[in-house]
Amino acid sequence: MGKRRRNNILQGIAFLAHHAGRFQYPVAEEEAERIRGALVELPEIVRLQVAGSLRRRRETVKDIDMVTSVADEAGDDARGRIMDFFTKQPSIQAITGKGETKSSVILGSGMAMDLRVVKDSQFPSTLHHFTGSKEHHIALRRRALSMNMTINDYGLFKGKEPNLEPVPCTNESDIYAALGMAYIEPELREDMGEIEAAVHGTLPKLVQQSDLRGMLHVHSTWSDGQNTIREMAEECMARGYQYLGMADHSKAAAYAGGLTEDRLRQQHEEIDRLNEEFAGRLHILKGTECDILKDGVLDYADDVLAELDFVVASIHSNFNLSPAEQTQRMIRAISNPYVDIIGHPTGRILLGRAGYTLDMEAVIDAAIEHGVCIEINAHPSRLDMDWRLVKRARDRGMKIPINSDAHALAGFDVIRYGIGIARKGWLSASDVLNTMETEALLAFFKK
Ligand SMILES: [Zn+2]
Ligand SMILES: [Zn+2]
Repeated sequence: MGKRRRNNILQGIAFLAHHAGRFQYPVAEEEAERIRGALVELPEIVRLQVAGSLRRRRETVKDIDMVTSVADEAGDDARGRIMDFFTKQPSIQAITGKGETKSSVILGSGMAMDLRVVKDSQFPSTLHHFTGSKEHHIALRRRALSMNMTINDYGLFKGKEPNLEPVPCTNESDIYAALGMAYIEPELREDMGEIEAAVHGTLPKLVQQSDLRGMLHVHSTWSDGQNTIREMAEECMARGYQYLGMADHSKAAAYAGGLTEDRLRQQHEEIDRLNEEFAGRLHILKGTECDILKDGVLDYADDVLAELDFVVASIHSNFNLSPAEQTQRMIRAISNPYVDIIGHPTGRILLGRAGYTLDMEAVIDAAIEHGVCIEINAHPSRLDMDWRLVKRARDRGMKIPINSDAHALAGFDVIRYGIGIARKGWLSASDVLNTMETEALLAFFKK
C-alpha cells in the first residue's frame, strides 16, 4: 500500500470517527443528489440510482450506496472514465478505495459513499441487493428457497447451488414477479410483513405528496413563527392547498410567545377577516398547539378549547418524568374530549436526544379509544411518531396527519420527509388525515 493511499485511508477514518456514524436524512439526500446530478451527465452511463437506506427513506442514514450501469458491450475504459470522474468530484474529501467496479469515498459531511458500476443486465439485481434491507433479503431468500429458486448477491436463479440457471430480469419488478409477488416499494423493504402482503396482493398503494389537501399544525408571528398568518396562507395557496390549520403555542409556552386566551381570541378575529377575503380559495382553521401540563391537564380550559376548530396537544416541558408518569400524563391529555391531534408524541430529536420515555403502545391504544390522531411531525430532525409505530397505529385504524410544524414559509418544504415516513409506515392516501377535503376534515374534527 502506497503512502498516499495510507494517508487517504487514515484521513477517512479520522473523518468517520469525528462524525460518529449516522446523519439526518436531508444531509444524505443532499450529498447523494450532488453526486448523482454530476454523474448523470456522463454518456457512458445507462442507469443510475441511489440504493441503500437512503432509497428506503430511513429516518437517519449511515452511508450512501449508488449503483450505475454501462452497456453490456462497453469496455473497461468506460468504467474507468466513470470512476475517474466520480473520484474527482469537488464534494469528496478523501478516496478510500478506487477500482473498476467499486469506488469508496468520504464526502464533505463526513459521510461514506460507495459507487458501483455494473453491466446493465446486472443492474436490477445489483440495485435490489444494495437497496436492502438485510432483513428483507433474508425473508426473500426464504421465499425463493420455498420455490426451488435462489436469490443472492449475483441475481435470481432457478434451482439451488450448484445448479443455478439465471432468471433474466430487466427491472426490480421482474425479480418480485419471478418470486410470485407484487413489486415491493423500497420504503417497505424492512421485513414488516411486506413479503406476505406482496404474495397475497394486499400491499397498500402508498400515499404521495400530491395527495395532501392542506397543512395542519402551523405557526405564525402570533407565537414563535417568522411569517404572518396572511403570508403562511398565501404560501399554502401557492402550493395548491385548500386549508391551513393554524396552531400557535399556548400560554404556558411563554418562551415561544404562547398566546393568552385574549390573544387567542384576537387571532380569531384576524382569521375570520382572512377567511372572508380568501373564501372559495383557502380555509384557515382556528387551532392551537396547546401545552400538555405536567399532570396531563391542558394549558387552556375546556371552554376555550371548545371555541377552536381543532386542537393539537404537545409536551414541551417536564421531559424527565418516569415512564409510567409520562404515559399517564399523555393518556390524560388524550382523554380530553377537545384534543384532536397529539404533536411530536415522543419529543425525540434524531441524533440529538432520545424522546420522553413513554409507553407508545399504550398511548396508541388510548388514542384509538378516544378517536385522537397522532401526527407524523415531518421535521427531519423529529420524524416523530416513528414509522414502526405509524404502521401499528394504521393497522388499528387511526387517521394520521402528516404535519410540517412550519414556523416560516420554507417550513412547508419538510412535508416530503413526513411523506417518506408515512410510506414506511404503510400509509395510503385514505390513512392520512390531511388528504381529506376541507368539509370532510371539519366534520371529522367536530365528531
Ligand atoms: Zn411543539
Ligand atoms: Zn409546533
